[in-house]
Amino acid sequence: MSKSTTTFLRKPLSSVLLAEARRPRRTFAPISKHARSLATQVDTPRSTPSGISPPPPPPVETTPETLEQQERERKARKIFQDAVAATAPRNNWTKEEISAIYYQPLMELAYQAGTLHRRFHAPGEVQLCTLMNIKTGGCTEDCSYCAQSTRYQAGTGVAAQRVATVDSVLEAARQARDNGSTRFCMGAAWRDMRGRKNSLRNVAAMVRGVRALGMEACVTLGMIDGAQAAELKEAGLTAYNHNVDTSREFYPSVISTRTYDERLRTLGHVRDAGINVCSGGILGLGESSTDRVGLLHTVSTLPSHPESFPVNALVPIKGTPLGDREPVAFTSMLRTIATARIIMPATIIRIAAGRKTMSEEKQALCFMAGANAIFTGEKMLTTECNGWDEDNAMFGRWGLSAMKSFEKKSPEEA
Ligand code: SF4
Repeated sequence: MSKSTTTFLRKPLSSVLLAEARRPRRTFAPISKHARSLATQVDTPRSTPSGISPPPPPPVETTPETLEQQERERKARKIFQDAVAATAPRNNWTKEEISAIYYQPLMELAYQAGTLHRRFHAPGEVQLCTLMNIKTGGCTEDCSYCAQSTRYQAGTGVAAQRVATVDSVLEAARQARDNGSTRFCMGAAWRDMRGRKNSLRNVAAMVRGVRALGMEACVTLGMIDGAQAAELKEAGLTAYNHNVDTSREFYPSVISTRTYDERLRTLGHVRDAGINVCSGGILGLGESSTDRVGLLHTVSTLPSHPESFPVNALVPIKGTPLGDREPVAFTSMLRTIATARIIMPATIIRIAAGRKTMSEEKQALCFMAGANAIFTGEKMLTTECNGWDEDNAMFGRWGLSAMKSFEKKSPEEA
C-alpha cells in the first residue's frame, strides 16, 4: 500500500468529507452548442494563464445555401445507412441514391461495404477463375480499348487465329482446376454468333467438358440471341459474360459498331435462358465519376442483379485508340467496388483486368471492401495475369481461401 493511501486511511472519514466539501469549486460558463460541435478531443474550455477565457468562435452564418448543403448531406447519410442495413438485394436504385453512396468518405464507404459483404458472403472466400482466349483477334468491332479488333491490327500486331480445339481447351481447363481454379471462362473475339453454327457446337462441347471436370463454365462470345443462349444452357453453361463497359452516356465515345441497347438485349437473352449473367465495366477509359455511377446504375437496375460484376482497370495497349491513357486512380477502383458491393450485395464482384499492376495491399483493400473473385492463371485475353503460385502465396499471407464450385447462390436465391 502506498504512503499517501495509508495517510488517507488514517484520517477519520468525516474530516476527509469535510475538507472535500470546503474545497472551492471552479465554475464554467455553459458550453455553447456551437463550441460543442467544433470540439474534438477536448470539449471543455481552457482558461488562459491569466484566468481569462478565450473569446468564443464567431457564429456560423446560416445561409439558404448552407442549409441546403446540410440537408443534402443528411439525405445522403440516410440513403447510405439504409443501403448498408439491407438484408436482400433491390434493383430499383436511382442514380441519385447510387451517387450518395459512391461519394461517401472512402474509408467509411469501404468499411461499410466490408460489413455488408459479411452479411451475404463468407468473409475471406475468393473465387478463382481462369480465362482462356479460345479465338484470338480478327474481330470486326471497334472497341477502343481492345487489341483484338482488326481496325487496330496494324498498330497492335495481333493477328486473327483459328479457334482452339476442344481438346486443347479441356487440357487448359484441367490444368486450371489442378491449380485451384473453380471457374473456367472461354472468350472468343467475335462480334456475334450469327452464321456460326459449327463454332457454337464446338463451344457447347467445350462447356460440357469443363462441367464434366466439376468446374463452373463461362463463355464470352459477343452478342447472342435467344436460341443460341438456349443451346448454351442445354450444354450446361453456368454464366455468360457480356460487359456493358461504362455508362450509357459515355459508351458511344468508346464503341460505335454496336449499341448499348444491343448489349442489354444479349443480357436479356442470357437471363431468359436461365444462365447467370456476368456483366461489368472497364475503368480508365476517360470516363468521369458520373459515368462510373451510370455503369453501376445500369447493372444494379437490371431485372435481376448480375451473378458476377467484373471490374476491369484499363490496360492500355499500344496501337489502340486508348493506348496512351493514364491508369485509373486506385481510389476510383476501390470506390466502384465498394459501391457495387453495397448496391448489389449478393453479387460476386470480380477484380478483372489490371490486377497485375495492383500491389498486394491494394488487392487486400479491394477484398476488404467486398471484392470476392479474381482471374488467375497464365494470361487474361491478351494481357498478363497474376499466376496461381503468386495468388496462392497471397492467399496464405492474408488468410484468404478459394471459393468452391457452385458454392455461391445466384443473387435471386440469396
Ligand atoms: S472487346 Fe470483344 S467485341 Fe470488342 S473488339 Fe474486342 S473482341 Fe471484339
